[in-house]
Amino acid sequence: MKRILITGGAGFIGSHLCTRLINEGHDVICLDNFFTGSKRNVIHLIGNPRFELVRHDVINPFHAEVDEIYNLACPASPVHYQYNAIKTIKTSVMGAINMLGLAKRINAKILQASTSEVYGDPIVHPQNESYWGNVNPIGIRSCYDEGKRCAEALFMDYHRQNGVRIKIIRIFNTYGPNMHPNDGRVVSNFIVQALKGRDITLFGDGNQTRSFQYVDDLIEGMMRLMATDDKIIGPVNVGNPNEFTIKELAERVVALTSSSSGFIHKNLPSDDPKQRQPDISYAKKVLDWSPVVELEEGLTKTIDYFRNLEE
Ligand code: NAD
Ligand code: UDP
Repeated sequence: MKRILITGGAGFIGSHLCTRLINEGHDVICLDNFFTGSKRNVIHLIGNPRFELVRHDVINPFHAEVDEIYNLACPASPVHYQYNAIKTIKTSVMGAINMLGLAKRINAKILQASTSEVYGDPIVHPQNESYWGNVNPIGIRSCYDEGKRCAEALFMDYHRQNGVRIKIIRIFNTYGPNMHPNDGRVVSNFIVQALKGRDITLFGDGNQTRSFQYVDDLIEGMMRLMATDDKIIGPVNVGNPNEFTIKELAERVVALTSSSSGFIHKNLPSDDPKQRQPDISYAKKVLDWSPVVELEEGLTKTIDYFRNLEE
């Protein structure tokens, strides 16, 4: 049994991680400022003596005695992270400094939820961990991309300078139950639109690609990375290499929901990456991990979740 701190624990991914770690018998402190997360995501854990929910903003220091820290606090959808771009950078950078400082003081292992966005609009395909990326440092996505890149730099420097035991995971597009229905991400947008019979909004021609990973696969990869010995620090790509165009995703969602929705095209947001696909050879090697949930199975579970929310 370990004592584990999860920042951003009431968000989409954090809530699945809290549930899984509690189910495995650990003590969990879930820290969140509820900007995009919600108590509803962890309501089933409230009252469990091994679960604590703390309202706190990671831009301020926090102290707790724990064995492991998962640093997930940061809005992840473009709509939310662009809402207050300065706050997004502060969350990534000051949140990383505060959590790394804590890890250093208490000698905890710390995992950073980084992102495929560190590769920007990639000119190398698929992306492996040695690729440095193609990021616009002054664009509308840079508050998120550069914030996360700076957090990775801080993790590496705390490791080199202070011997902090770090792990960096680069998460590719992930979906599943507990996604925020209005966060503007493509999977939640399409499902909500299909269930309500509204037009499906394709940005640009819909030929840009993404690789979608179901949240259970991600949680397994994250926990395996945390469990590796101290020599494995990453970064490690964790994602599903099955690549689809956004148009194909829209067609799947319409078919699985038996929806009458049509399609409309809207302008492609600036700096929107044209293609993205993880090279997961390193995760296979060091974590003995690969995703097991197919898109159709994951979408079906996610559609069920959104259907129940509607009722
Ligand atoms: P989310 O928005 O659902 O969760 C983020 C959580 O962090 C929320 O509960 C939010 O309230 C909390 N938070 C935000 N700012 C905070 C602050 N200053 N202090 C304390 N809490 C704060 O997003 P998610 O999809 O669950 O993403 C979790 C992490 O995984 C993020 O760091 C994100 O960058 C990373 N990630 C997610 C994806 C994805 O596809 N979902 C892909 C790559 C990386
Ligand atoms: N997208 C879309 N319609 C939507 C929302 C998103 O066509 O209603 C597109 C978006 O332009 C991008 C892709 O879907 O090319 C994935 O967008 P998302 O915001 O989910 O994630 P990210 O761009 O960060 O990968």
